[in-house]
Amino acid sequence: MQEKILIVEDEPDIVKMVEYNLKKEGFRVISAPDGNEALRRVERERPDIIILDLMLPEIDGLEVCRALKKNQDSADIPVIMLTAKSQETDKIVGLELGADDYITKPFSVRELIARIKAVLRRAREKEKPPEIIKIGSLTIDFSKIKASIGNKPVELTAKEFELLSALIKAKGRVLSRDYLLDNIWGFDKAVEIQSRTVDVHIQTLRKKLKAEAKRITTVKNYGYRFEREEG
Ligand code: CA
Repeated sequence: MQEKILIVEDEPDIVKMVEYNLKKEGFRVISAPDGNEALRRVERERPDIIILDLMLPEIDGLEVCRALKKNQDSADIPVIMLTAKSQETDKIVGLELGADDYITKPFSVRELIARIKAVLRRAREKEKPPEIIKIGSLTIDFSKIKASIGNKPVELTAKEFELLSALIKAKGRVLSRDYLLDNIWGFDKAVEIQSRTVDVHIQTLRKKLKAEAKRITTVKNYGYRFEREEG
């Protein structure tokens, strides 16, 4: 899975330059020109990391950072702030608010990429999920990419396993079809036939999960949720 980076910046030239270079590095890049749009995109698209300029129109970067860190769903997403030399105090406030790192403008793309990789590496180490999760009679071994019910292995295809993992890791949040298509299949835009891809895989996954299938609930016209607790 390619990591998704959200760049929040109102200067199109910087966005273009960063976007071009990060894509070349193999990242997926989305952008937002202001704070409100940034918060919307975070909610909809769950980026893996956010590059946040502090000088933004309307809501400034610090407010955006505060909002991100206050919200349980986005608090864990690493943030790298872009600051100007004159914003020394803002930088400190940002770090206190929970930003992971900062980079001072003007910056070199190489430095930015190095920071991004370092922050992502740290985030991965921090959040390493337990390798084995048991939910009801279902056991998922993420390191071995294996699932079983009771002591019987469940034969899942790679996509089914990714789908199940994504749903479990969402901890009860509803994942939209678009999100799943984007993150598991790498489709940018959901057209009818692609949306069905998710539904078809959910169907086969449910069949294979047998008694535990009821944990996957359908949110009509939107997506799916995995219930960890006994309903
Ligand atoms: Ca700016």
